[in-house]
Amino acid sequence: MKAAPGKVYLVGAGPGAPDLITVRAARLLERADIVFYDALVHPDTVALATKAEKIAVGKRCGRHSTAQRFINKRLIDAAARYRTVVRLKGGDPMLFGRAQEEIDALQAAGIEFEVVPGVTAALAASAELGISLTLRGVSRNVTFATPRVGEGENTSDWITSVCSADSAALYMAAGQAGAIAAGLIASGMQPDTPVVIVENASLPDMTQTATTLGGLRCAPESIGHGPALILIGRVFRRAGVGSRNHALRHAALQESISAPLCA
Ligand code: SAH
Repeated sequence: MKAAPGKVYLVGAGPGAPDLITVRAARLLERADIVFYDALVHPDTVALATKAEKIAVGKRCGRHSTAQRFINKRLIDAAARYRTVVRLKGGDPMLFGRAQEEIDALQAAGIEFEVVPGVTAALAASAELGISLTLRGVSRNVTFATPRVGEGENTSDWITSVCSADSAALYMAAGQAGAIAAGLIASGMQPDTPVVIVENASLPDMTQTATTLGGLRCAPESIGHGPALILIGRVFRRAGVGSRNHALRHAALQESISAPLCA
């Protein structure tokens, strides 16, 4: 049994492809004693932690839900027993990863922590599409946003920021794509604004679907099965032209949102 409490590393696992992880993260996984990992982390990435006890704490859309406070407690408890505790999160821990709640809990408990960044999904999607999120004369800013609102939050906040963004990446949005598009159009965005939906970015089964905000308004309640991003902005006009060949089209979705007008 060790004397001093261990250290907790909040580690970004990247967007999905197991080789899109930083060298620092891979080395930490190799020496980890215990790893708490999210649902979106690739099994091959978890497997890098050869000697660690591995615990799934996924919180995907209510499935296999483990309350955040319980995760915080488990991290604190683990730091009392193990030297190297890794909290492995999809993408980057500091973007829509609830890292701050874990950091606050660790700090309150007097436990040392360190954050290891990862490649966030929007950057992987941009790379796969071959479309830069910024472009001279077209896009000088990028907004990472989510329509997912917590208790007491104002739903309109994210709409305002997306409406004024040159390029926007919407996380956790695929479950309500049609309503999102309708909301953005109602708030003044042009229906012909280009949109690309990228599902499973960086993974072999990635799909990309190019449409417009008006087309997206016709999308079914929930699009895709894997994690998906909705990318919005003029830079995405070139999607479909320069997109990578291996990317499959999501045929059913393409059909349902390609109609110029619905309802
Ligand atoms: N911290 C993560 C985001 C977690 S929120 C990051 O930095 O990427 C989970 C959301 O991320 C999903 O609902 C989806 O919108 C997006 N996402 C995660 N992985 C993805 C992937 N491989 N392809 C597309 N979107 C992804």
